[in-house]
Amino acid sequence: MAHVNENYLKLPGSYLFSEIARRVNQFKINNQDADIIRLGIGDVTRPLPAAVIEAMKKGVEEMARQETFRGYGPEQGYEFLIRLIIDNDFSSRKVELSVEEVFVSDGAKTDTANFQEIFGMDNILAVTDPVYPVYVDSNVMAGRTGKVNEKGQFNGIVYLPCTEESGMKPALPEKRVDMIYLCFPNNPTGVTLSREELKKWVDYARENRSIILFDAAYEAYIREESVPHSIYEIEGAREVAVEFRSFSKTAGFTGTRCAYTVVPKEVTAYDSGGAAHSLNSLWLRRQTTKFNGVSYPVQVGAAAVYTGEGKKQVREMIDYYMENARIIREGLQKAGYKVFGGVNAPYVWLKTPNGMGSWEFFDRLMKDAHVVGTPGAGFGAGGEGFLRLTAFGTRENTERALERIKTRM
Ligand code: PLP
Repeated sequence: MAHVNENYLKLPGSYLFSEIARRVNQFKINNQDADIIRLGIGDVTRPLPAAVIEAMKKGVEEMARQETFRGYGPEQGYEFLIRLIIDNDFSSRKVELSVEEVFVSDGAKTDTANFQEIFGMDNILAVTDPVYPVYVDSNVMAGRTGKVNEKGQFNGIVYLPCTEESGMKPALPEKRVDMIYLCFPNNPTGVTLSREELKKWVDYARENRSIILFDAAYEAYIREESVPHSIYEIEGAREVAVEFRSFSKTAGFTGTRCAYTVVPKEVTAYDSGGAAHSLNSLWLRRQTTKFNGVSYPVQVGAAAVYTGEGKKQVREMIDYYMENARIIREGLQKAGYKVFGGVNAPYVWLKTPNGMGSWEFFDRLMKDAHVVGTPGAGFGAGGEGFLRLTAFGTRENTERALERIKTRM
């Protein structure tokens, strides 16, 4: 008799987006003429930059000719892309990395979910609350947690509350933790940490020999000088941090798939005898066993993000979304809402008025303004009483949505 991995049975069903779809469909049945604007989804809507498309076409053409055809590539990614990543995303910020420290992959979701595999099962992990659910669910699947409670929180995970009072920023854990997931700019709250704030986490990790799993998928949206783009801008981070980056939100690759993870050679974790092991070697071992690389045309397309034309087109795309973020943020503020994010991130996190629950406010927003957001409670207990709006819609829809919120809510 085959047995299932019972850790999977600990997971409640993926309720958030199916429940949103159910409520929207029900509303549409009852209100067939309603022109619904969706500002809930965390997916980009602008097409890929022309420079990327041109490069990908050339990459495909190369695959069509005997002389230039390529089969399996290096599991860690082609060196031409890795060198561009290092020069443009890190050296320009005085962060030095070697080619062996960057692992190209098909997504930050995959990497943030898989990275936990190389840690021991007895590690205590900490996540912010609210949180991008992948960090939690992947650790539950692996068996690193106990059961879920009525608040949707798992035994064995240290939840770091991000509250209105703390500006939606987490405080250091009160008890020792081994693995710390941090995501800045944050999904869902849109807030960032300053250098000084991030340094506290790096110092904590160095003192406690913990590892920070730093998700910087939204790094490209940072506007303010004081906000670090990479955790390696903080002294000592090379010893204790792994960083996840993605072309998804940076360059519109959500449907094309390319990302990368940085694992400096100094980052170490320990075996039960106390001997130190390089996470870089373990991740290389893991990737070369379980992953066969990102397709050549896609890596050629990602490399085009770093050409003059590519950079200009990416900047225009990000400017477009960030103008939407400004419209949402300022529009909500003018309408009297308390908001977070939207300055260095494509997400605006609004506090529901009069202590209304997330889902209740979601329903009201849909009913009165015909606008769909994402209830904060879907990102954890700490998200209750908040709602997320995204800047990834069209300009026209964003403006119309805010006008409706102002006049109808
Ligand atoms: N990390 C965060 C915080 C995200 O919000 C997302 C996507 O929404 C991802 C990672 C996934 O990125 P990718 O498309 O590279 O898998």
